[in-house]
Amino acid sequence: MYKSMKSQYFNAEHQLFRESLRQFFDKEVAPYANEWEEKRQIPKDIMLKMGKQGYLGLNFPEQYGGSNADLWYSVVFLEELARTGLAGFSTMVSVHQFMAINHIFKAGSAALKEKYLVPAIRGEKLAALGISEPAAGSDVSALLTKAERQGDSYLINGSKTFISNGTYGDFITLACKTSDTALSLIVVDLDAEGVSRTKLKKMGWHSSDTAEISFDNVKVPLTNLIGKEGMGFYYLMESLQLERLVAAIMAVIGATHTLDLTVKYLHERETFGKTLAKYQVIRHTLADLFTEVEMAKQMVYNTCWLFTQGETVVKECSMAKLYTSELANKVADKCLQYFGGYGYMEDFPICRIYRDVRVGTIAGGASEIMREIIAKIAIDGVSFGKVY
Ligand SMILES: Cc1cc2nc3c(=O)[nH]c(=O)nc-3n(C[C@H](O)[C@H](O)[C@H](O)COP(=O)(O)OP(=O)(O)OC[C@H]3O[C@@H](n4cnc5c(N)ncnc54)[C@H](O)[C@@H]3O)c2cc1C
Repeated sequence: MYKSMKSQYFNAEHQLFRESLRQFFDKEVAPYANEWEEKRQIPKDIMLKMGKQGYLGLNFPEQYGGSNADLWYSVVFLEELARTGLAGFSTMVSVHQFMAINHIFKAGSAALKEKYLVPAIRGEKLAALGISEPAAGSDVSALLTKAERQGDSYLINGSKTFISNGTYGDFITLACKTSDTALSLIVVDLDAEGVSRTKLKKMGWHSSDTAEISFDNVKVPLTNLIGKEGMGFYYLMESLQLERLVAAIMAVIGATHTLDLTVKYLHERETFGKTLAKYQVIRHTLADLFTEVEMAKQMVYNTCWLFTQGETVVKECSMAKLYTSELANKVADKCLQYFGGYGYMEDFPICRIYRDVRVGTIAGGASEIMREIIAKIAIDGVSFGKVY
Protein backbone atom coordinates (compact mmCIF):
# COMPACT_ATOMS: atom_id res chain seq x y z
CA MET A 1 0.00 0.00 0.00
CA TYR A 2 1.20 3.53 -0.83
CA LYS A 3 2.37 5.28 2.31
CA SER A 4 1.05 8.79 2.40
CA MET A 5 3.03 11.77 3.61
CA LYS A 6 3.20 12.10 7.37
CA SER A 7 0.88 14.74 8.69
CA GLN A 8 1.30 17.00 11.68
CA TYR A 9 -2.40 16.80 12.48
CA PHE A 10 -2.55 13.21 13.72
CA ASN A 11 -1.02 12.02 17.00
CA ALA A 12 -0.45 8.51 18.39
CA GLU A 13 -4.02 8.27 19.75
CA HIS A 14 -5.48 9.17 16.36
CA GLN A 15 -3.32 6.43 14.88
CA LEU A 16 -4.55 3.85 17.42
CA PHE A 17 -8.10 4.91 16.69
CA ARG A 18 -7.44 4.44 12.97
CA GLU A 19 -6.16 0.92 13.51
CA SER A 20 -9.12 -0.16 15.62
CA LEU A 21 -11.55 1.39 13.13
CA ARG A 22 -9.88 -0.42 10.25
CA GLN A 23 -10.24 -3.71 12.10
CA PHE A 24 -13.89 -2.95 12.76
CA PHE A 25 -14.62 -2.20 9.09
CA ASP A 26 -12.61 -5.23 7.95
CA LYS A 27 -14.76 -7.44 10.16
CA GLU A 28 -18.17 -5.78 10.00
CA VAL A 29 -18.31 -4.24 6.51
CA ALA A 30 -15.82 -5.72 4.02
CA PRO A 31 -17.22 -9.28 4.06
CA TYR A 32 -20.75 -8.00 3.33
CA ALA A 33 -19.96 -5.33 0.74
CA ASN A 34 -21.01 -7.32 -2.32
CA GLU A 35 -24.13 -8.66 -0.64
CA TRP A 36 -25.27 -5.16 0.39
CA GLU A 37 -24.60 -3.83 -3.09
CA GLU A 38 -26.57 -6.62 -4.73
CA LYS A 39 -29.49 -6.34 -2.29
CA ARG A 40 -29.30 -2.55 -2.60
CA GLN A 41 -29.76 -2.29 1.12
CA ILE A 42 -27.58 -2.08 4.19
CA PRO A 43 -28.94 -3.76 7.33
CA LYS A 44 -29.54 -1.17 10.02
CA ASP A 45 -27.81 -3.25 12.67
CA ILE A 46 -24.46 -1.99 11.37
CA MET A 47 -25.51 1.44 12.67
CA LEU A 48 -26.27 -0.10 16.08
CA LYS A 49 -22.85 -1.74 16.12
CA MET A 50 -21.20 1.57 15.21
CA GLY A 51 -23.29 3.36 17.82
CA LYS A 52 -22.13 0.90 20.51
CA GLN A 53 -18.51 1.59 19.56
CA GLY A 54 -19.16 5.32 19.96
CA TYR A 55 -18.27 6.06 16.32
CA LEU A 56 -21.51 7.92 15.54
CA GLY A 57 -20.99 10.34 18.41
CA LEU A 58 -17.40 11.35 17.79
CA ASN A 59 -18.40 14.89 16.84
CA PHE A 60 -21.01 15.41 19.58
CA PRO A 61 -20.73 16.19 23.31
CA GLU A 62 -20.88 13.55 26.06
CA GLN A 63 -24.26 14.74 27.33
CA TYR A 64 -25.87 13.34 24.16
CA GLY A 65 -23.88 10.13 24.22
CA GLY A 66 -21.02 11.44 22.12
CA SER A 67 -17.33 11.68 22.92
CA ASN A 68 -16.61 15.30 21.97
CA ALA A 69 -13.46 14.16 20.19
CA ASP A 70 -11.41 16.70 18.24
CA LEU A 71 -12.10 17.10 14.51
CA TRP A 72 -9.14 14.90 13.56
CA TYR A 73 -10.94 11.85 14.99
CA SER A 74 -13.81 12.59 12.62
CA VAL A 75 -11.30 12.99 9.79
CA VAL A 76 -9.80 9.57 10.61
CA PHE A 77 -13.31 8.12 10.80
CA LEU A 78 -14.26 9.53 7.38
CA GLU A 79 -10.97 8.41 5.84
CA GLU A 80 -11.45 4.87 7.06
CA LEU A 81 -15.06 4.91 5.87
CA ALA A 82 -13.80 5.92 2.41
CA ARG A 83 -11.13 3.25 2.53
CA THR A 84 -13.82 0.56 2.76
CA GLY A 85 -14.29 1.33 -0.95
CA LEU A 86 -18.03 1.03 -0.40
CA ALA A 87 -19.34 4.50 -1.18
CA GLY A 88 -22.96 3.47 -0.58
CA PHE A 89 -22.09 2.66 3.02
CA SER A 90 -19.99 5.82 3.51
CA THR A 91 -22.92 7.85 2.23
CA MET A 92 -25.41 6.24 4.60
CA VAL A 93 -23.19 6.98 7.60
CA SER A 94 -21.92 10.43 6.64
CA VAL A 95 -25.35 11.80 5.69
CA HIS A 96 -26.73 10.54 9.01
CA GLN A 97 -23.91 11.77 11.22
CA PHE A 98 -22.49 14.87 9.57
CA MET A 99 -25.44 16.25 7.63
CA ALA A 100 -28.85 15.32 9.05
CA ILE A 101 -28.41 15.29 12.83
CA ASN A 102 -25.86 18.07 12.90
CA HIS A 103 -28.66 20.62 12.48
CA ILE A 104 -30.51 19.22 15.50
CA PHE A 105 -27.35 19.43 17.55
CA LYS A 106 -26.56 22.98 16.44
CA ALA A 107 -29.97 24.61 16.75
CA GLY A 108 -32.51 22.04 18.01
CA SER A 109 -34.33 22.28 21.36
CA ALA A 110 -33.40 20.05 24.32
CA ALA A 111 -36.51 17.95 23.62
CA LEU A 112 -35.57 17.45 19.94
CA LYS A 113 -32.06 16.45 20.97
CA GLU A 114 -33.41 13.91 23.45
CA LYS A 115 -35.89 12.45 20.96
CA TYR A 116 -33.75 12.38 17.79
CA LEU A 117 -30.09 13.21 18.36
CA VAL A 118 -29.49 10.79 21.26
CA PRO A 119 -30.98 7.69 19.53
CA ALA A 120 -29.24 8.67 16.29
CA ILE A 121 -25.87 8.73 18.07
CA ARG A 122 -26.68 5.30 19.52
CA GLY A 123 -27.46 4.05 16.02
CA GLU A 124 -31.04 3.27 16.97
CA LYS A 125 -32.59 5.76 14.56
CA LEU A 126 -31.37 6.47 11.03
CA ALA A 127 -31.52 10.08 9.80
CA ALA A 128 -31.93 11.71 6.39
CA LEU A 129 -31.57 15.29 5.17
CA GLY A 130 -34.24 16.60 2.79
CA ILE A 131 -33.28 19.60 0.71
CA SER A 132 -33.50 18.66 -2.99
CA GLU A 133 -36.83 18.57 -4.78
CA PRO A 134 -37.92 17.38 -8.21
CA ALA A 135 -37.93 20.99 -9.49
CA ALA A 136 -35.09 22.48 -7.41
CA GLY A 137 -31.71 21.14 -6.38
CA SER A 138 -28.89 23.61 -6.92
CA ASP A 139 -31.19 26.56 -6.33
CA VAL A 140 -32.23 26.09 -2.71
CA SER A 141 -34.20 29.35 -2.70
CA ALA A 142 -36.58 27.80 -5.27
CA LEU A 143 -37.78 24.97 -2.98
CA LEU A 144 -41.55 24.50 -2.95
CA THR A 145 -42.33 22.14 -0.05
CA LYS A 146 -44.50 24.09 2.39
CA ALA A 147 -45.08 23.90 6.13
CA GLU A 148 -48.15 25.85 7.19
CA ARG A 149 -49.06 26.54 10.79
CA GLN A 150 -52.33 25.00 11.91
CA GLY A 151 -52.93 25.29 15.67
CA ASP A 152 -50.00 23.66 17.44
CA SER A 153 -48.86 21.80 14.31
CA TYR A 154 -47.29 22.34 10.91
CA LEU A 155 -49.08 20.86 7.95
CA ILE A 156 -46.48 19.79 5.40
CA ASN A 157 -47.09 19.38 1.67
CA GLY A 158 -44.64 18.83 -1.14
CA SER A 159 -41.98 16.41 -2.26
CA LYS A 160 -38.27 15.77 -1.99
CA THR A 161 -36.07 13.72 -4.26
CA PHE A 162 -32.64 12.03 -4.28
CA ILE A 163 -32.83 11.68 -0.49
CA SER A 164 -30.14 9.39 0.94
CA ASN A 165 -31.47 7.15 3.75
CA GLY A 166 -34.92 8.22 2.58
CA THR A 167 -36.38 4.73 2.17
CA TYR A 168 -35.16 3.06 5.34
CA GLY A 169 -34.51 6.16 7.48
CA ASP A 170 -36.53 6.88 10.63
CA PHE A 171 -36.67 10.65 10.46
CA ILE A 172 -35.70 13.51 8.19
CA THR A 173 -34.41 17.03 8.74
CA LEU A 174 -36.64 18.71 6.21
CA ALA A 175 -36.20 22.07 4.50
CA CYS A 176 -39.66 23.66 4.03
CA LYS A 177 -41.02 27.06 3.12
CA THR A 178 -42.74 28.53 6.19
CA SER A 179 -43.57 31.72 4.29
CA ASP A 180 -43.34 32.78 0.64
CA THR A 181 -39.74 33.80 1.09
CA ALA A 182 -38.33 31.99 4.14
CA LEU A 183 -37.18 28.42 4.72
CA SER A 184 -37.24 26.53 7.99
CA LEU A 185 -35.86 23.18 9.10
CA ILE A 186 -38.35 20.77 10.65
CA VAL A 187 -37.84 17.23 11.90
CA VAL A 188 -40.37 14.79 10.43
CA ASP A 189 -40.83 11.12 11.32
CA LEU A 190 -40.68 9.15 8.12
CA ASP A 191 -43.41 6.75 9.22
CA ALA A 192 -45.85 9.63 9.84
CA GLU A 193 -49.25 9.54 8.18
CA GLY A 194 -49.13 11.20 4.75
CA VAL A 195 -45.47 10.36 4.05
CA SER A 196 -44.87 8.09 1.06
CA ARG A 197 -41.48 6.95 -0.18
CA THR A 198 -40.31 5.52 -3.47
CA LYS A 199 -36.87 3.97 -3.72
CA LEU A 200 -34.91 5.22 -6.74
CA LYS A 201 -32.72 3.09 -9.03
CA LYS A 202 -29.25 4.55 -9.41
CA MET A 203 -26.16 4.24 -11.59
CA GLY A 204 -23.95 3.72 -8.52
CA TRP A 205 -23.94 3.80 -4.71
CA HIS A 206 -26.14 0.72 -4.98
CA SER A 207 -26.06 -0.18 -1.31
CA SER A 208 -27.10 3.32 -0.28
CA ASP A 209 -30.81 3.92 -0.40
CA THR A 210 -32.03 7.00 -2.24
CA ALA A 211 -35.68 7.99 -2.26
CA GLU A 212 -38.28 10.32 -3.58
CA ILE A 213 -40.51 11.28 -0.66
CA SER A 214 -43.90 12.97 -0.80
CA PHE A 215 -45.61 14.75 2.02
CA ASP A 216 -49.39 14.92 1.83
CA ASN A 217 -50.88 16.94 4.70
CA VAL A 218 -48.32 15.57 7.13
CA LYS A 219 -48.99 16.89 10.63
CA VAL A 220 -45.92 17.69 12.70
CA PRO A 221 -45.83 19.42 16.11
CA LEU A 222 -44.56 23.01 16.03
CA THR A 223 -41.95 21.87 18.56
CA ASN A 224 -40.24 19.91 15.76
CA LEU A 225 -38.96 23.18 14.31
CA ILE A 226 -35.14 23.34 14.46
CA GLY A 227 -33.94 26.69 15.80
CA LYS A 228 -35.77 29.78 14.61
CA GLU A 229 -38.52 29.86 12.02
CA GLY A 230 -37.34 31.41 8.75
CA MET A 231 -33.65 30.73 9.44
CA GLY A 232 -33.48 27.44 7.51
CA PHE A 233 -31.69 28.83 4.46
CA TYR A 234 -28.91 30.27 6.63
CA TYR A 235 -28.58 27.09 8.72
CA LEU A 236 -28.29 25.08 5.50
CA MET A 237 -25.74 27.40 3.91
CA GLU A 238 -23.53 27.29 6.99
CA SER A 239 -23.74 23.51 7.41
CA LEU A 240 -22.98 22.98 3.74
CA GLN A 241 -19.37 23.89 4.56
CA LEU A 242 -18.97 20.86 6.81
CA GLU A 243 -20.84 18.69 4.29
CA ARG A 244 -18.50 19.75 1.50
CA LEU A 245 -15.48 19.18 3.66
CA VAL A 246 -16.76 15.69 4.52
CA ALA A 247 -17.27 15.00 0.80
CA ALA A 248 -13.74 16.24 0.05
CA ILE A 249 -12.13 14.07 2.75
CA MET A 250 -13.89 10.99 1.42
CA ALA A 251 -13.18 11.83 -2.23
CA VAL A 252 -9.46 12.27 -1.73
CA ILE A 253 -9.04 9.15 0.41
CA GLY A 254 -11.27 7.24 -1.98
CA ALA A 255 -8.82 8.23 -4.75
CA THR A 256 -5.89 6.97 -2.65
CA HIS A 257 -7.69 3.67 -2.20
CA THR A 258 -8.26 3.45 -5.97
CA LEU A 259 -4.54 4.05 -6.59
CA ASP A 260 -3.62 1.37 -4.04
CA LEU A 261 -5.85 -1.21 -5.74
CA THR A 262 -4.36 -0.26 -9.09
CA VAL A 263 -0.74 -0.55 -7.98
CA LYS A 264 -1.45 -4.04 -6.63
CA TYR A 265 -2.95 -5.06 -9.98
CA LEU A 266 -0.10 -3.52 -11.98
CA HIS A 267 2.33 -5.79 -10.13
CA GLU A 268 0.22 -8.87 -10.83
CA ARG A 269 -0.74 -8.47 -14.50
CA GLU A 270 1.76 -9.23 -17.25
CA THR A 271 1.71 -8.34 -20.94
CA PHE A 272 4.52 -8.99 -23.44
CA GLY A 273 6.60 -10.71 -20.74
CA LYS A 274 6.60 -7.99 -18.10
CA THR A 275 4.25 -6.67 -15.49
CA LEU A 276 2.18 -3.57 -16.18
CA ALA A 277 4.06 -1.91 -13.30
CA LYS A 278 7.16 -1.82 -15.56
CA TYR A 279 5.67 0.28 -18.36
CA GLN A 280 6.92 3.82 -18.11
CA VAL A 281 3.77 5.35 -19.57
CA ILE A 282 1.72 3.74 -16.79
CA ARG A 283 4.29 4.52 -14.08
CA HIS A 284 4.31 8.20 -15.05
CA THR A 285 0.56 8.45 -15.16
CA LEU A 286 0.36 6.95 -11.68
CA ALA A 287 3.17 9.20 -10.44
CA ASP A 288 1.19 12.26 -11.59
CA LEU A 289 -1.98 10.99 -9.95
CA PHE A 290 -0.23 10.25 -6.64
CA THR A 291 1.18 13.77 -6.71
CA GLU A 292 -2.18 15.38 -7.39
CA VAL A 293 -3.88 13.31 -4.71
CA GLU A 294 -1.20 14.21 -2.16
CA MET A 295 -1.56 17.92 -3.00
CA ALA A 296 -5.32 17.69 -2.69
CA LYS A 297 -5.01 15.93 0.65
CA GLN A 298 -2.83 18.68 2.08
CA MET A 299 -5.37 21.26 0.91
CA VAL A 300 -8.18 19.31 2.57
CA TYR A 301 -6.20 18.97 5.82
CA ASN A 302 -5.44 22.68 5.85
CA THR A 303 -9.14 23.43 5.38
CA CYS A 304 -9.93 21.07 8.29
CA TRP A 305 -7.39 22.94 10.39
CA LEU A 306 -8.94 26.32 9.50
CA PHE A 307 -12.29 24.81 10.45
CA THR A 308 -10.95 23.85 13.90
CA GLN A 309 -9.80 27.46 14.32
CA GLY A 310 -13.38 28.67 13.86
CA GLU A 311 -12.59 30.36 10.54
CA THR A 312 -15.26 30.89 7.90
CA VAL A 313 -14.16 28.45 5.22
CA VAL A 314 -16.79 28.82 2.50
CA LYS A 315 -14.21 29.36 -0.24
CA GLU A 316 -11.82 26.65 0.98
CA CYS A 317 -14.57 24.02 1.41
CA SER A 318 -15.95 24.81 -2.05
CA MET A 319 -12.47 24.57 -3.56
CA ALA A 320 -11.77 21.31 -1.73
CA LYS A 321 -15.05 19.73 -2.83
CA LEU A 322 -14.65 20.92 -6.42
CA TYR A 323 -11.07 19.76 -6.79
CA THR A 324 -11.25 16.43 -4.97
CA SER A 325 -14.49 15.23 -6.57
CA GLU A 326 -13.14 15.99 -10.05
CA LEU A 327 -9.81 14.40 -9.18
CA ALA A 328 -11.50 11.25 -7.84
CA ASN A 329 -13.27 10.91 -11.20
CA LYS A 330 -10.02 11.37 -13.09
CA VAL A 331 -8.23 8.80 -10.92
CA ALA A 332 -11.02 6.23 -11.31
CA ASP A 333 -11.11 6.73 -15.08
CA LYS A 334 -7.34 6.49 -15.60
CA CYS A 335 -6.96 3.54 -13.24
CA LEU A 336 -9.81 1.54 -14.77
CA GLN A 337 -8.02 1.73 -18.09
CA TYR A 338 -5.07 -0.25 -16.69
CA PHE A 339 -7.33 -3.07 -15.53
CA GLY A 340 -8.18 -3.65 -19.20
CA GLY A 341 -11.32 -5.74 -19.72
CA TYR A 342 -11.30 -6.82 -16.07
CA GLY A 343 -11.94 -3.23 -15.08
CA TYR A 344 -15.29 -3.50 -16.80
CA MET A 345 -16.27 -6.61 -14.83
CA GLU A 346 -18.38 -6.45 -11.68
CA ASP A 347 -16.03 -8.84 -9.85
CA PHE A 348 -13.38 -6.14 -9.77
CA PRO A 349 -13.86 -3.33 -7.21
CA ILE A 350 -12.57 -0.72 -9.68
CA CYS A 351 -15.76 -1.29 -11.70
CA ARG A 352 -17.90 -0.23 -8.74
CA ILE A 353 -15.57 2.64 -7.85
CA TYR A 354 -15.83 4.01 -11.41
CA ARG A 355 -19.61 4.26 -11.31
CA ASP A 356 -19.77 5.33 -7.63
CA VAL A 357 -17.38 8.21 -8.05
CA ARG A 358 -19.39 9.87 -10.80
CA VAL A 359 -21.97 11.45 -8.53
CA GLY A 360 -19.27 13.28 -6.54
CA THR A 361 -19.30 16.28 -8.87
CA ILE A 362 -23.11 16.55 -8.61
CA ALA A 363 -24.39 15.64 -5.11
CA GLY A 364 -23.94 18.11 -2.27
CA GLY A 365 -23.51 20.95 -4.78
CA ALA A 366 -22.48 20.52 -8.41
CA SER A 367 -19.01 21.56 -9.56
CA GLU A 368 -20.53 24.52 -11.39
CA ILE A 369 -22.08 25.75 -8.15
CA MET A 370 -18.72 25.37 -6.38
CA ARG A 371 -17.13 27.47 -9.14
CA GLU A 372 -19.87 30.09 -8.76
CA ILE A 373 -19.22 30.36 -5.01
CA ILE A 374 -15.45 30.54 -5.46
CA ALA A 375 -15.82 33.18 -8.19
CA LYS A 376 -18.18 35.28 -6.05
CA ILE A 377 -15.62 35.33 -3.25
CA ALA A 378 -12.45 35.59 -5.32
CA ILE A 379 -13.69 37.94 -8.06
CA ASP A 380 -16.64 39.87 -6.62
CA GLY A 381 -15.24 40.15 -3.10
CA VAL A 382 -18.38 38.67 -1.51
CA SER A 383 -17.88 37.52 2.07
CA PHE A 384 -19.88 35.16 4.27
CA GLY A 385 -20.49 35.48 8.01
CA LYS A 386 -21.38 32.94 10.68
CA VAL A 387 -24.95 31.96 11.49
CA TYR A 388 -24.60 29.92 14.68
C1 LIG B 1 -27.13 9.70 -5.23
C2 LIG B 1 -27.58 11.05 -4.77
C3 LIG B 1 -27.78 11.27 -3.40
C4 LIG B 1 -28.23 12.51 -2.96
N1 LIG B 1 -28.53 12.69 -1.63
C5 LIG B 1 -29.18 13.83 -1.24
C6 LIG B 1 -29.68 13.96 0.10
O1 LIG B 1 -29.49 13.09 0.95
N2 LIG B 1 -30.39 15.08 0.40
C7 LIG B 1 -30.63 16.07 -0.52
O2 LIG B 1 -31.28 17.03 -0.18
N3 LIG B 1 -30.17 15.97 -1.78
C8 LIG B 1 -29.45 14.86 -2.17
N4 LIG B 1 -29.01 14.74 -3.46
C9 LIG B 1 -29.31 15.81 -4.41
C10 LIG B 1 -28.08 16.60 -4.87
O3 LIG B 1 -27.58 17.40 -3.84
C11 LIG B 1 -28.55 17.39 -6.11
O4 LIG B 1 -28.67 16.43 -7.15
C12 LIG B 1 -27.58 18.49 -6.50
O5 LIG B 1 -27.60 19.51 -5.55
C13 LIG B 1 -27.92 19.06 -7.88
O6 LIG B 1 -29.27 19.40 -7.95
P1 LIG B 1 -30.17 18.88 -9.17
O7 LIG B 1 -29.95 17.42 -9.31
O8 LIG B 1 -31.55 19.34 -8.98
O9 LIG B 1 -29.53 19.56 -10.43
P2 LIG B 1 -29.96 20.98 -11.08
O10 LIG B 1 -30.04 22.01 -10.04
O11 LIG B 1 -31.13 20.76 -11.96
O12 LIG B 1 -28.69 21.26 -11.99
C14 LIG B 1 -28.37 20.39 -13.08
C15 LIG B 1 -26.98 20.70 -13.55
O13 LIG B 1 -26.97 22.00 -14.14
C16 LIG B 1 -25.78 22.67 -13.85
N5 LIG B 1 -26.09 23.92 -13.16
C17 LIG B 1 -27.07 24.17 -12.28
N6 LIG B 1 -27.05 25.45 -11.86
C18 LIG B 1 -26.01 26.02 -12.49
C19 LIG B 1 -25.43 27.34 -12.48
N7 LIG B 1 -25.90 28.31 -11.68
N8 LIG B 1 -24.37 27.58 -13.29
C20 LIG B 1 -23.86 26.60 -14.08
N9 LIG B 1 -24.35 25.35 -14.12
C21 LIG B 1 -25.40 25.07 -13.35
C22 LIG B 1 -24.92 21.70 -13.04
O14 LIG B 1 -24.07 20.99 -13.89
C23 LIG B 1 -25.92 20.75 -12.45
O15 LIG B 1 -25.37 19.45 -12.19
C24 LIG B 1 -28.47 13.55 -3.90
C25 LIG B 1 -28.22 13.32 -5.26
C26 LIG B 1 -27.80 12.10 -5.69
C27 LIG B 1 -27.62 11.89 -7.16
